[in-house]
Amino acid sequence: MYSPFQKHLQKDLKEIREAGLYKEERIITSPQSSSITVKNKQVLNFCANNYLGLSNHPQLVKAAEEALRQRGYGMSSVRFICGTQDLHKELENTISKFFGTEDTILYASCFDANGGIFEPLLNREDAIISDALNHASIIDGVRLCKAQRYRYANADMADLEKCLQQAQQQRFRLIVTDGVFSMDGNVAPLDKIYALARQYDAMVMVDESHSAGVVGNTGRGTTELYGLKGQVEILTGTLGKAFGGAIGGFTTGKKEVVELLRQRSRPYLFSNSIPPMVAAAGIAAFNLLDRDNLLQDKLHGNTSYFVQKMQEAGFDIKPTQSAICAVMLYDARLAQEFAASLQEEGIYVTGFSYPVVPKGEARIRVQISAAHELRQLDDCIQAFCKVGKELKVIQNG
Ligand SMILES: *Cc1c(COP(=O)(O)O)cnc(C)c1O
Repeated sequence: MYSPFQKHLQKDLKEIREAGLYKEERIITSPQSSSITVKNKQVLNFCANNYLGLSNHPQLVKAAEEALRQRGYGMSSVRFICGTQDLHKELENTISKFFGTEDTILYASCFDANGGIFEPLLNREDAIISDALNHASIIDGVRLCKAQRYRYANADMADLEKCLQQAQQQRFRLIVTDGVFSMDGNVAPLDKIYALARQYDAMVMVDESHSAGVVGNTGRGTTELYGLKGQVEILTGTLGKAFGGAIGGFTTGKKEVVELLRQRSRPYLFSNSIPPMVAAAGIAAFNLLDRDNLLQDKLHGNTSYFVQKMQEAGFDIKPTQSAICAVMLYDARLAQEFAASLQEEGIYVTGFSYPVVPKGEARIRVQISAAHELRQLDDCIQAFCKVGKELKVIQNG
């Protein structure tokens, strides 16, 4: 039985390779950080979601170690059977406080949070109105729900309004958007989305995975940026990016929403509880951010510095409101070659081209972190300039 299937898979794999879409994994032999070891070589990392440099922060490691010793390694249960420790409740409360929301429910990942949110809350009488560039986990979550689906072009408010008008017959309407879109680094226009939601009687959900810890003066995400803290009905987010980068996700917002999810959300009911050490390190991460604004300030300073220096050097950077900087090269082959040359210079970045981004919009994505020191940013900019001149992207000068 396997042999015809094997041939079928081998053909698929060959096609992926031939299309240039085969993803190779690079093996890191150090902790995740601004500087990492790959193939025994020290390189600067500009492609992690380690926005605040917490992935290997001593206070998070210490909190995890202590919890490991005091609360053990695993929970061996889902939350509602015997998988809830005080640490899980404390982390949920800490997240609610951070976002100014009423209650929070933890998941094993934000992929699970998004996968488990729509189906319990909405049915075929309702409407989900989703940004075309929303994360794969939102798309999958929507697929699991019987609500009517509407899709609007990325951050296009005229298109969103059209969808809202079409959805007026439905019982409830939920607008869903990523807070930051990961390919351009643009923030969803939440002020306008919220105004339209008011006008057309809809609720709003924002996935803050790339925006929490990054956007807003104190990193509280898009609701802080737009002065809407506590106003948006539903936020989802991850512990896998700015907040330590290990694992874990959450939905936070209105208390009845969270209460119902605890009763009916399938990834919560049927998947294991996060380990105590992850909960403890998560609490430590949010507490660290509560104490002062040093990491936020450093991240914002680093991002402005990088963008400004790169623009001065003649690079075309997409306007960013996050820690994602898209260096536009437009041509797919050029982007690939550019990224490969940067790696030889010891700079880890990722090139993206079609189908991940639109045709003719190939780019290199640079992700800035509070862990980057100024000289590391300078090294990165210098490498960009060197390769940029070699490949005639910028002028010699
Ligand atoms: C990374 C990401 C996720 C998935 O988060 P995990 O916790 O890694 O599953 C979901 N949504 C968005 C917008 C993301 O960027």
